[in-house]
Amino acid sequence: MSRVALVTGGTRGIGAAISMALRNAGYKVAATYAGNEEKARAFHEVTGIAVYKWDVTDYEACGKGIAKVEHDLGHVEVLVNNAGITRDAMFHKMTPQQWQEVINTNLTGLFNMTHHVWQGMRDRSFGRVINISSINGQKGQMGQANYSAAKAGDLGFTKALAQEGAAKNITVNAICPGYIGTEMVLAVPEKVLNERIIPQIPVGRLGQPEEIARVVVFLASDDAGFITGSTISANGGQFFA
Ligand code: NDP
Repeated sequence: MSRVALVTGGTRGIGAAISMALRNAGYKVAATYAGNEEKARAFHEVTGIAVYKWDVTDYEACGKGIAKVEHDLGHVEVLVNNAGITRDAMFHKMTPQQWQEVINTNLTGLFNMTHHVWQGMRDRSFGRVINISSINGQKGQMGQANYSAAKAGDLGFTKALAQEGAAKNITVNAICPGYIGTEMVLAVPEKVLNERIIPQIPVGRLGQPEEIARVVVFLASDDAGFITGSTISANGGQFFA
């Protein structure tokens, strides 16, 4: 029987590629979004993948949303924590709101989602939790103290939870994408992309969302059962001290 996979922020960008790759690999997929109805509707019409709207910063909404997914599709066995935002500013100009929104979405969102599926995964002795962190959580990025802190926090969360899940056949891993050609990155001015960002990437191009999605499909598979607590970098060779 096909497993159920839930992808947060699964209706556009990297998340949409993950949703489609999991669906193509035989999973029953639920893709969530926060409020971009137009993109979510278009994604559903094109792919037929079930879409659900809730805010990952709202713990109660996550519980209700997951209950609805489980009612519709079955128990969530693969959770991909992909939803994320940026609110960039140099630290001396960063507002408490910019800090809090990014921490709430990119870090607390992982708690809010994972907490609601964890006991079920423990009870059934199977689970895959895959957290989409970032190269900027590994190396830090100026103008992104909030984002770098949240994404680094995701890596600590991954390693701690992997130890708790291990005895119950639940793996917890993180992927750190480098620069991937989604709206989040294409919002960067073209001059900055071409003159500052792409020259830092040894392969000489942005990554494609599908290149992250294929890593997710592998980590979700039975073949990846011995991989847990890992951080997999997919960044075109953009290594750092
Ligand atoms: P996009 O901005 O293209 O898409 C973000 C998705 O997350 C959307 O579906 C959005 O929903 C959803 N989302 C945002 N906030 C919330 C929320 N509070 N509750 C529920 N869903 C929410 O992002 P990317 O595809 O570029 O990024 C995906 C992930 O990969 C993020 O975690 C990002 O930090 C990470 N990443 C991206 C990189 C890149 O180069 N693009 C590099 C490294 C990491 P809606 O459509 O309704 O707005």
